[in-house]
Amino acid sequence: MSGKAAASGRRVLVTGGAGYIGSHIVDRLVERGDEVTVLDDFSTGSERNLSQHAGEARLRTVRGDVLDAEIVDRLVSSHPLVFHLAAAVGVRHIVERPLESVLTNVRGTENVLASAHRAGARVLLASTSEIYGRSEAVPFREEGDRVLGPTWVHRWSYSTAKAIDEHLAFAYAERGLRVSVVRYFNSYGPRIDERGYGSVIARFAGQALAGVPITVHGDGRQTRSFTFVSDTVRGTILAAERDEAVGGVFNIGSAREVSIGELAQRIRDGLRSASPIELVPYESYYPKGFQDTRRRLPDVARAREVLGFEATVPLEEGLERTLAWCREHYGSTATR
Ligand code: UDP
Repeated sequence: MSGKAAASGRRVLVTGGAGYIGSHIVDRLVERGDEVTVLDDFSTGSERNLSQHAGEARLRTVRGDVLDAEIVDRLVSSHPLVFHLAAAVGVRHIVERPLESVLTNVRGTENVLASAHRAGARVLLASTSEIYGRSEAVPFREEGDRVLGPTWVHRWSYSTAKAIDEHLAFAYAERGLRVSVVRYFNSYGPRIDERGYGSVIARFAGQALAGVPITVHGDGRQTRSFTFVSDTVRGTILAAERDEAVGGVFNIGSAREVSIGELAQRIRDGLRSASPIELVPYESYYPKGFQDTRRRLPDVARAREVLGFEATVPLEEGLERTLAWCREHYGSTATR
């Protein structure tokens, strides 16, 4: 895949580049001839996600933490374009490790933005549709209000930390930083983490492959807008590079809403699994007092108008490609 396009002369830093979305961004950048540096601590990211680039001179991987301001500063100052994806992600991960998650998500971004501001680098900040919390103003528009539960419900700390990141980005923008923000809506595709970080699709696929019950939380009528990773990546790169995108925030997601119950059926059928689909209480997976987002659907108008972006991969096709990958890569004792 790599080594085909002529060198573009662009030097790009991807924090979190060994993660699920980050590694797909790296693929695209290397393929088009960029010189790419990945900064990753390999906590939820993995070397396997980048193994297709083994021996590739255009890719350099640095094992390090975005909390290490010195490394961040050194790398950012030598890369005019920075994709900042390093973060503690996934609701389950956040509720299990609230302190580390908040600190990584706030301080890490603070480091990246401060360095980029000093160095004059352009930054793409990866944010999340979790920003909207449990707002009922569906579809979510970028300028819509955020509706969050109380501060002791850890889930909302992710939304809050990412919102602080966005506030920091816009505050630095006022001082001249060229930054754009993307809010991801349930991205899925090859390399989704078998441990289920941030992805119900990974979890259901693991259960279906292991032949254990597929656990649908609540009544299964909560919805999400699942977005295939090639769309996620295209929207991200457009937001990172379009002049019109500077200072802007964009929903990057599919306009199709799917219930979790329907998703479970599709995954079971797609994998020809005999797993039963069970409705289970949220408390069987999350700590007591967990609060879910009932519907999550992006308003896609701004991304279309400013970035010329629209998610195009239908759920059927995206799932087929993702499940084929899961079948090949997940162990039979996958996540329960
Ligand atoms: N979910 C589920 N069963 C599982 C894991 C998740 O029904 O085993 C539900 C979860 O409660 C939520 C939706 O799937 O309503 C999406 O969860 P995910 O963790 O993918 O991310 P979220 O969209 O909540 O950030």
